[in-house]
Amino acid sequence: MTHPYLDLAPYTAAQFADVERRLARLMSTEHDVVIMQGEALLPLEGCIRGVAGPDTTALNVITGPYGHTFGGWLRDCGARVIDLEVPFHAAVRPEQVAAALEEHPEIDFVSLVHAEAATGNTNPVAAIGEVVRAHGALFMLDAVASVAAEPLLTDAWGIDLCVIGGQKAMGGPAGVSAAAVSARAWQRMAANPRAPRHSYLSLLDWKERWIDAGRRALPHAPAQLEMLALDACLERIEQAGPAAVQARHAAAAAAVRAGTLALGGGLEPFVHEAGDAAPVATTLRTPPDVDATDLVTRARATDPTLPLVAGGGALAREMIRVNHYGPDARPEVVIAALAALGVVLADSGARVDVDGARNAALRAGQATESAAIGGEPAKTAETQKGEKESENESEKESEKTA
Ligand SMILES: *Cc1c(COP(=O)(O)O)cnc(C)c1O
Repeated sequence: MTHPYLDLAPYTAAQFADVERRLARLMSTEHDVVIMQGEALLPLEGCIRGVAGPDTTALNVITGPYGHTFGGWLRDCGARVIDLEVPFHAAVRPEQVAAALEEHPEIDFVSLVHAEAATGNTNPVAAIGEVVRAHGALFMLDAVASVAAEPLLTDAWGIDLCVIGGQKAMGGPAGVSAAAVSARAWQRMAANPRAPRHSYLSLLDWKERWIDAGRRALPHAPAQLEMLALDACLERIEQAGPAAVQARHAAAAAAVRAGTLALGGGLEPFVHEAGDAAPVATTLRTPPDVDATDLVTRARATDPTLPLVAGGGALAREMIRVNHYGPDARPEVVIAALAALGVVLADSGARVDVDGARNAALRAGQATESAAIGGEPAKTAETQKGEKESENESEKESEKTA
């Protein structure tokens, strides 16, 4: 019997460095990309502990659960933290970030999550990056849920610390992750006496022992299987083309949104504005008399492969997450998920239109995918309606389709 995961040739430093180069290309960065051998929380924590200390004043933007985690680490480092929290059904606006920076000119670090798989929103990073750059603060972005699902222009957006993981839209492993680190961020870490050294959390260790040493010898045994999987999922994205992979995710998100509105039964998109909704995952709000956890359990009983989960923590009763990422960013998957939800809701006596949902989802998905590939803004029924209602909000519209 052969064991495909065993008795493999050693994973080499050259292969490791090659994957780092290809991740840098995916993230549109010339900065150093450091792969860390753990789930994405490892580089996220490593970045924050690397730059933060008692002299730090941090603006921590909270648009989902990870913002709270970052705030906890920042405070633990002794930083003074200014939280900017927005409701999880929306995105933060660049003007809100600008106002916070103006009110607290001493802010020298900004942390932001790009897309939130847990709450289904995405933030306008390009415009926020401009504001942060004008102020001069170091800018950290959690792009774990956005990478491969939507554009991620690390350098053009002025991101100093950009963290990704393979387990969402990349359709890859959860056990290795990466951070792109700007020269400015390296300087901040090098000058920070509290930055972890000789520690698994230390990005500086990787810089000295791996990057500065010419990427010739790995400081630790490579996580062989995880690296093979990361290499393979990158290859798949490179072959399809990142734009096509992003288009698939945008199409899946548009399909769920349009399908949900057509389905009825009291289910509605959790994120109010389509332009604030993340391409990686779509969150839905259940009607007051329907428990989201129960609905998901019953829908998954019909097909355990459906990418449905209930919201975490306080949202477990009212939020459903349709995790249409990676291999699940396909029309047949989201339509099956909507149909399963519809059948369960109908069983409980709700009036739903499963066929209407299927048709609306298909139409919206196709319109979005072909528009995305053709480079034209998508015109789904919903965004057209939004445009009519707010002709003068052209800025917001361009963000939506950026
Ligand atoms: C998924 C995700 C991570 C990774 O953490 P897990 O909790 O292990 O999934 C980090 N940040 C964001 C925004 C994510 O969506």
